[in-house]
Amino acid sequence: MTSTSSALVIGGGIAGPVTAMALRRAGIDATVYEAYPPATEELGGSLGLASNGVAALEIVGAADSVRAAAVPTPNMVMTIGGKKAVEGSAFPQDQEPLQLISRAKLHRILREAALDAGVTFVHDKRLVGAKEHEGAIEALFADGTSATGDVLIGADGIRSTVRTLIDPDAPGPEWTGMIGFEGQGIDPTLIPSLDIEPGTTCFAFGKRAYYLYYRDADGRVTFGSNLPWKEYLTIAQARQIPAEQWIKTLRETYAGDVPGEEMARALTPENFSTVGALHIMPSVPRWHRGRMVLVGDAVHAPSNSTGQGASLAIESAIELARALRDLPDHASAFAAYERLRRARVERITASGRRINHAKTPGPVAAAFMRTVMPLFFKRVIEKTSGPSLRFRIDFGAQVAG
Ligand SMILES: Cc1cc2nc3c(=O)[nH]c(=O)nc-3n(C[C@H](O)[C@H](O)[C@H](O)COP(=O)(O)OP(=O)(O)OC[C@H]3O[C@@H](n4cnc5c(N)ncnc54)[C@H](O)[C@@H]3O)c2cc1C
Repeated sequence: MTSTSSALVIGGGIAGPVTAMALRRAGIDATVYEAYPPATEELGGSLGLASNGVAALEIVGAADSVRAAAVPTPNMVMTIGGKKAVEGSAFPQDQEPLQLISRAKLHRILREAALDAGVTFVHDKRLVGAKEHEGAIEALFADGTSATGDVLIGADGIRSTVRTLIDPDAPGPEWTGMIGFEGQGIDPTLIPSLDIEPGTTCFAFGKRAYYLYYRDADGRVTFGSNLPWKEYLTIAQARQIPAEQWIKTLRETYAGDVPGEEMARALTPENFSTVGALHIMPSVPRWHRGRMVLVGDAVHAPSNSTGQGASLAIESAIELARALRDLPDHASAFAAYERLRRARVERITASGRRINHAKTPGPVAAAFMRTVMPLFFKRVIEKTSGPSLRFRIDFGAQVAG
């Protein structure tokens, strides 16, 4: 039986609300402290939730709301240098399709589900420090206020403050050498060579850069670009560069790509957003210290290339709650949680690293991929994503200490 009765959850993105909901299910009181006001949760961009992530959301009762708001996307096409290399089912047949959903909708659904579950959200609370007391931990916020609980959970994303409170020498995120951009709601008539219907994502290894695209339920097109870039830019620096200038760069980059060139031409400052530098988290030596622990991107951001970041964050949130429910004290719960999660998330991160290397293949590698991929496609899908997608959590099962 747990001795933990209250948790301070830092970060109201994806891992934060799911952790808080799972803790409530485990009988532990949880409050989410988010740095930004609720209005800025209207984020741009979208992401795909894989079957393992949606299955984990079943545990906190949010899966059906996500399915209802998402576009199920069972198929994929892969093109290399404009030539179709692979076409077919993107997932093993026994798995539900990828659910593509806008970040704004996903955040809204998770927040509403958490509120319904009795979770409290406190906004404009940026964590800047923490003090451990006898039997409790105090979170210190930038506005001079504080809050006290039994444990403090860092769900504060890839630039986590909690990570450095746990270990000042913790590694930070590594830049992949690419900057991300997105175009949303693009009119398909502006892309005469568009070759896919809703339900298919195309992963395109262009002549100079990788991009992906898919159609929303209304037929409009979302375009995502991973642009190799010479120097690191923070998100603020990347957004200081006017949209027109980035769009010009993307038009030059995708010139000659089909249909990348037409998509880049259809970008306007209104349908365009700068996602920022794309990162991957190296292995984090310390997942917890004292009454503090990490969850989600704060401890395992496996690169956007895996399509697993949010799903792994959701799984970890639930496993952490399960461990806190079943083990007698936070120290044994945090140790069990790390044991349950580390190998899986590090395996998927390693695969993200391999995919990132392949995003800008030279001519020889491109020719090799074009020849080999069609032959081994099904086997590659099964080997690379089968174990990730089939992972399921039995929330009722007791966690061993
Ligand atoms: C371009 C791109 C595409 C992606 N595509 C996919 C995809 O298709 N599928 C997928 O599964 N994943 C994808 N991901 C990864 C996914 O977005 C992340 O894994 C996921 O958002 C992690 O959730 P999180 O809650 O851990 O962190 P976040 O979503 O980053 O949330 C962290 C929250 O903490 C708050 N915060 C930060 N610091 C503090 C502080 N000091 N005090 C209080 N609050 C704080 C932030 O404001 C934020 O709300 C993609 C990522 C990128 C960059």
